[in-house]
Amino acid sequence: MNFHDFNFDSRLLEGILSMGYDKPTPIQEKAVPAILHNKDLIACAQTGTGKTAAYILPIMQKILLSDRRHVNTLVLAPTRELAQQIDQQVEAFGYFTGISSMPVYGGGDGVTWEQQKKAIKEGIDLVIATPGRLISHMSSGDLKMEHLQHLVLDEADRMLDMGFYDDILRIIGYLPKKRQTLLFSATMPPKIRTLASKILNEPEQISIAISKPAEGIIQQAYLVHNEQKLDLLTTILKSGSYSSILIFASTKENVKKLDSTLRKTGFQCKAFHSDLVQSEREEIMREFKNKNCQFSLERMCFPGY
Ligand code: AMP
Repeated sequence: MNFHDFNFDSRLLEGILSMGYDKPTPIQEKAVPAILHNKDLIACAQTGTGKTAAYILPIMQKILLSDRRHVNTLVLAPTRELAQQIDQQVEAFGYFTGISSMPVYGGGDGVTWEQQKKAIKEGIDLVIATPGRLISHMSSGDLKMEHLQHLVLDEADRMLDMGFYDDILRIIGYLPKKRQTLLFSATMPPKIRTLASKILNEPEQISIAISKPAEGIIQQAYLVHNEQKLDLLTTILKSGSYSSILIFASTKENVKKLDSTLRKTGFQCKAFHSDLVQSEREEIMREFKNKNCQFSLERMCFPGY
């Protein structure tokens, strides 16, 4: 199978090929036809499977054929960084199509808020948002959703772990009842099933087997007590010649503690969490990508540190 088989508009196809994609991944093979057929969808798929393109591409195809474009689609994502990444993918795929998108998240200064409001008023096809900031736009009346045709929940399990359950239901209260809803999640705990039963209509279900790590990647797990973790971590870090390392911890406090301990041990690292302002977050991402900082420490929803 290849992307021509989906009968995408030639402008969209050009964007896909310019990204270097030549054939669909398994989740894309299954999800694209279901979405093009207006089905609701519950998909169990991890990051790395190509899940973003699996929903973005058919939605963009439908937007090209739609006369209801302002705001046609809402994508909810747990973090600002994921919202930015999805927005960048829309921009890349949509380069030849004229489809517009806008990431909406908190933490910016007044200029960003004004820019977001102006762009929304002028008319955009897709809004990609974290739940908190979106609620302020909606309740202030700046964001009208009466033309909405598609709602996507990306990384739904992470959104629930981060406490967004009520916010999500509140946002859905502002949306038209007649819409297509797509829910993507790496795991399917009972809370996700409950949410799905509330917001999806006779969904198709897709489950993609947990993806194997890429060739050359070693996955290891160590069973240790809490008090042994720091010693183990520093031993591992000192034993290899690592240049870029991401370390995830369960809470902001643990990220800060780990950051200060690793710095005292002589490691160059930066703590990354939601107490930082947006410009600081972007600076850390830049430094990490440019390899000016060796580690980035992030808060994640894993038990542990
Ligand atoms: P995702 O699971 O959406 O985070 O995507 C993981 C990575 O796979 C991203 O870098 C995508 O650009 C890339 N990707 C997604 N679909 C394809 C495809 N069909 N061919 C090549 N790369 C892809």
